[in-house]
Amino acid sequence: MRILVTGGAGFIGSAVCRHLVGRGDAVLNFDKLTYAANLASLTSIDGAPNYRFLRGDVADPAAVRAALATFRPEALMHLAAETHVDRSIDSGAPFLETNVTGVFVLLEALREYLAGAGADIARRFRLLHVSTDEVFGALGAGGRFDERSPYRPSSPYSASKAAGDHLVRAWGGTYGLPVLVANCSNNYGPYQFPEKLIPLTTLAALEGRPIPVYGKGENVRDWLYVEDHARALAAILDRGALGETYLIGGDSERTNLAVVETICDLVDRLSPEQGGRARRALIGFVADRPGHDLRYAVDASKIERELGWRPDVSFEAGLERTVRWYLANEAWWRPLKDRYAGERLGAAP
Ligand code: NAD
Repeated sequence: MRILVTGGAGFIGSAVCRHLVGRGDAVLNFDKLTYAANLASLTSIDGAPNYRFLRGDVADPAAVRAALATFRPEALMHLAAETHVDRSIDSGAPFLETNVTGVFVLLEALREYLAGAGADIARRFRLLHVSTDEVFGALGAGGRFDERSPYRPSSPYSASKAAGDHLVRAWGGTYGLPVLVANCSNNYGPYQFPEKLIPLTTLAALEGRPIPVYGKGENVRDWLYVEDHARALAAILDRGALGETYLIGGDSERTNLAVVETICDLVDRLSPEQGGRARRALIGFVADRPGHDLRYAVDASKIERELGWRPDVSFEAGLERTVRWYLANEAWWRPLKDRYAGERLGAAP
């Protein structure tokens, strides 16, 4: 298939591009290259004949129209987004621009493209909108999100993603666009920008810097290895029923404190400090994130039942693989320190 991937220079988008190119699809990666992007995540495929990169903004109608007209995709996977909750607390504007206006621009450009693309492409075309479980808001101690869960976003980030989800479904219902929506839990793995919990903690532990834990570290997230997510998205694109939503999760709930402590122990084992000081001593509790959702958990039984997808990588195996990758790939993360040096974001009252 010819697949246009937006946001393919980001963490999950690059895993999706590597996966699709590896299985033989023709991929155009359309990405604005914001602070969160890194073309070094794509070196394993950037010479491949079935991969191309185009710099562009999803909120720019002319750029999106031109990409569609020249590449003539048979499918589009939309991952481009502003994604960091803490940054959305400091400034919501880029989140509304990319995650809401960007989705609107994409949907309108797709309507126009499909009207003129010819029957063959129009009949087969699919848009997969990639979203998050955070749109459902916080859970208490029990229960899990499923495809019928009501939307209750509580951060500027999750509200902007929720708006995008609604627009996609509305354009499906109103204009008959062939849409699919995926809502996934927290991803982790290689190539994640070091503002997010797992790489942030790994690099702080490695460099002997204080490791901040929000509140008491009691917030619970469900974690999924990024390559399992890429496979799930490919399965939905290939075999998902149009108009449907699929929740994706790793069935691996952990408190933030448990995640941070496990990383400290892994770094102690894989990169022992002289003098044998335990990295857990670097952990310090800091003011909580405003509006911090207590718990997310996902019931992923629909995608397993209908599409036969299950996660392959356990949290323990995936976390060790991830920590080993950061230890071995300083050349990937060191240059990103110019964009983010570990300072606290999103502490606004
Ligand atoms: P990321 O922040 O690592 O990467 C986002 C990419 O989008 C970057 O390459 C950036 O340059 C690009 N981008 C941003 N604005 C753009 C614009 N206006 N036009 C074109 N490109 C633009 O994000 P990620 O963690 O890889 O997340 C990808 C998608 O998956 C997002 O839609 C996110 O909401 C969703 N998601 C993420 C997670 C997670 O745990 N990271 C979980 C579930 C869903």
